[in-house]
Amino acid sequence: MEIVTRQKQWFKHGYTQSYEFRKQQLLKTKRMLQTFEVPLLKALQYDLNKSEFEAYTTEIAFLNAEIQEQLSHLKKRMAPEKVKAPLSHTGTQNYIRKEPYGSVLIIAPWNYPLQLAIAPAIGALAAGNTAVLKPSEMTPTVSWVIRRMIEEFFPEHVLKVVEGGKEVTQQLLSEPFDYIFFTGSERVGKIVMQKASEQLIPVTLELGGKSPAIVHKDANLPVAARRIAWGKLINAGQTCIAPDHVYVHKDIKEAFIREYKAAVHLLYGKEPLKNDDFVKIVSKDHFDRIKSYLSDGNIALGGETDEKNNKIAPAVLTEVTEKDPVMQEEIFGPILPVLEYRELQEAVETISDKPDPLALYYFGEDEKSQEFVTTSLSFGGGCINDTLYHIINPHLPFGGIGASGMGSYHGKFSFETFTHKKSITKQNTKFDPSFRYKRDKNSLKIIKRIL
Ligand code: NAD
Repeated sequence: MEIVTRQKQWFKHGYTQSYEFRKQQLLKTKRMLQTFEVPLLKALQYDLNKSEFEAYTTEIAFLNAEIQEQLSHLKKRMAPEKVKAPLSHTGTQNYIRKEPYGSVLIIAPWNYPLQLAIAPAIGALAAGNTAVLKPSEMTPTVSWVIRRMIEEFFPEHVLKVVEGGKEVTQQLLSEPFDYIFFTGSERVGKIVMQKASEQLIPVTLELGGKSPAIVHKDANLPVAARRIAWGKLINAGQTCIAPDHVYVHKDIKEAFIREYKAAVHLLYGKEPLKNDDFVKIVSKDHFDRIKSYLSDGNIALGGETDEKNNKIAPAVLTEVTEKDPVMQEEIFGPILPVLEYRELQEAVETISDKPDPLALYYFGEDEKSQEFVTTSLSFGGGCINDTLYHIINPHLPFGGIGASGMGSYHGKFSFETFTHKKSITKQNTKFDPSFRYKRDKNSLKIIKRIL
């Protein structure tokens, strides 16, 4: 694709190395989001029925905060970092230069189609890269607005949008990019990594999976239920870090379900399907897939469907087994399987036998149990006594482990992700001791002492 060559050639001139240039790109991104706020909100509503409140808080506000965070620390992050030197390096200066990779490919999914396309681009631009952005074809209106706004604000040798489906993505994956940042499913993540390996292109993979919540018997139940319902039902469950299912101590299971019902009513009323703010399922295929899970157990709450508008009411499933399809695949919808355990150890062992999730949420007051769960299990990130909140702290890296991905971003971690750390040792030429070149016993003695 000609655009990659163009970006790479332009990048070589070195314009993106300066603080002023990078600052301007970030300010331009801010102005672009302000200018296109209304079309973006409309597009998010059209493709996913996101309310203005939800679209603004989970997509636009997040991006504004990320731009501000990068701007506040840009100069410091860009500066070469002096490091100490061992005795063997006496007389030298040693430092790490923060270099952009070059032309970066960003591939985005559909569930937060604006945020997950632009947030990596903010990191890439702050770090001095150029970028090609491939939004998801599943949310075509948002994809179109993203292309239009970027065309209006950026020359294509700095930031370019390429729209299209998997054929286009595969074509892009054959190009000689300097870095690939992919957000999406584990299945496509494997394709991306395979293609990247052919050209040894470094990758960040932000993937998904089944993120569990655990509610122990000492949890503050009304708060736990509200926070789980909130994290589960934002975007109708189509959130990579949504609590996918919950393990509840058997003594409090019935009470938890009661509180969860109350929380759903609080959030979306008694008839969520009639609530205009409740997000729809992105496509008919996903609607059918999620609906089919309703037969995997007993429906303890909701589960009504509106086929015409692709909506599924928040549901709770009980009597589910680990072998049921709903426990085998990422749900990515508003259905919450509630499973029970007797001992915390048992829940931890069940989770640790599965692939490492992107997120884990533990609810309980006892600090020893909190420590036990968070140290025994491997997962991307998570919360104690909350859901999703870790993702909106820019001082925490966001990313997965194992099947849920590799690498991380947000705040300084975005800058680091898109930056190559180039090590430099600057020697002096005033003295050049001979022991370094001689292979005799005396030299060896000196070297042994130094090293
Ligand atoms: P997806 O993997 O189907 O698609 C992501 C991107 O890959 C799209 O741009 C699409 O065009 C492209 N693509 C699809 N099939 C392809 C193929 N065969 N070859 C090359 N490219 C292809 O993911 P999705 O359905 O858009 O998003 C949902 C998934 O993303 C869920 O698994 C979710 O957990 C995950 N996700 C992860 C994060 C995160 O930050 N970790 C955020 C959002 C979503």
